Amino acid sequence: MRRIIYCSQASFDMSPDELVALLELSRRNNSRDGLSGMLLYSSQSFLQVLEGESAALDATYDRIRADDRHVNLRLLLDAEVAEPLFPEWTMGFDHVDDEELGEQLEGFTPATTYPLVNPDLITNAGVAQTLLGLYAKNAVR
Ligand code: FAD
Repeated sequence: MRRIIYCSQASFDMSPDELVALLELSRRNNSRDGLSGMLLYSSQSFLQVLEGESAALDATYDRIRADDRHVNLRLLLDAEVAEPLFPEWTMGFDHVDDEELGEQLEGFTPATTYPLVNPDLITNAGVAQTLLGLYAKNAVR
């Protein structure tokens, strides 16, 4: 199985309704395609991990890349893995506010100008995976 992790900037500040619609669509498609993963949204930034069979992953990532709801996609990881991080989730989700982030991440200074997926924060895939794991335990399934 293969895992990809990317981050991106939302094109606009997405409302809860818009996020729910995006999540429902993603879950429906990912269930059909045998994919699992996790999506974080904070300060108009996305961080997503997607896992599954290679062809299904490519097709989904192609659609995601073409989506005008976000821009500046940056692929942080594309690797073969033995085990999925989120086997039971067609798409876990957390809307991380900065206050929560400040409580959970030692040394983090909350500021809307310094979003979760700012390149300075997410320096590599290891950091991204740690963050995703951190929020996974609270995520809505
Ligand atoms: P379509 O038939 O193209 O669209 C279904 C419905 O989705 C439409 O009726 C419309 O209401 C809505 N919609 C589609 N595109 C837009 C748009 N640009 N703006 C507003 N509404 C729209 N897709 C997945 O399958 N799996 C994922 O894990 C996933 N994660 C995503 C993460 C992020 C951060 C973003 C921005 C998008 C993600 N998507 C994901 C959505 C993906 O980009 C495609 O929109 C989706 O896969 C298209 O699926 P479809 O062809 O079945 O839907």
